[in-house]
Amino acid sequence: MFVGHYAVSLALKRVDNHASLGMLFLAVQFVDILFFPFVLMGIEHFNIVENYTQSTHFELYFMPYTHSLFASFLWAAGIYIAFRFMPSKKTANKNKIAIVMATAVLSHWFFDLVVHTPDLPLFGDSSTKLGFGLWNNAIATYLLEAILLLLGLGLYLKSTKATTFVGKYGMIIFVVLMLGINAENIFGPPFGDNVVTMSVAALGLYFVFAGVAFWLDGKRN
Ligand SMILES: [Zn+2]
Repeated sequence: MFVGHYAVSLALKRVDNHASLGMLFLAVQFVDILFFPFVLMGIEHFNIVENYTQSTHFELYFMPYTHSLFASFLWAAGIYIAFRFMPSKKTANKNKIAIVMATAVLSHWFFDLVVHTPDLPLFGDSSTKLGFGLWNNAIATYLLEAILLLLGLGLYLKSTKATTFVGKYGMIIFVVLMLGINAENIFGPPFGDNVVTMSVAALGLYFVFAGVAFWLDGKRN
């Protein structure tokens, strides 16, 4: 799953709107943000396989440290600790924000579970791997992510108030843009013909999206 993960980021602003949306954008993709550098370092692996599913052109065959259920819990716990004890000047409730961030990290695995083919291990590289395989139906995958993202947008707009013109319309335009990029991602040709190009491109998009979310979130409170 790609843009659908951001539904969680947007929705969690309703739980605590002191949480940074930019951080929440990084948190929901945290295990992917680790996965691609791990691939570049030869620690985890995937192959480019054109039309592996209707929606993807890759085979994810070794990702025990980022995409096992157990690892997801550990990364979420690490993020909880980081946010709980990170020095901050704000009067915001650090425990609550830490829980929100950890929830965002953990949500990745469960949202991936719906779309992935059985490639998500439970523990390490366990032989039991899960994935409900919605990726085999491109239209259903696109619609699910679009519906999730729009629901997230609705909650976000309800729980924050625009302070400027950009604040009022920016997030809506951004979501429409993400839906367009996801159409290319799901229905388009492979995103680069090798693992390195694809990893770098994916990482770049995650950081650009988080940057835009951070900027737009500053226009609402
Ligand atoms: Zn993932």
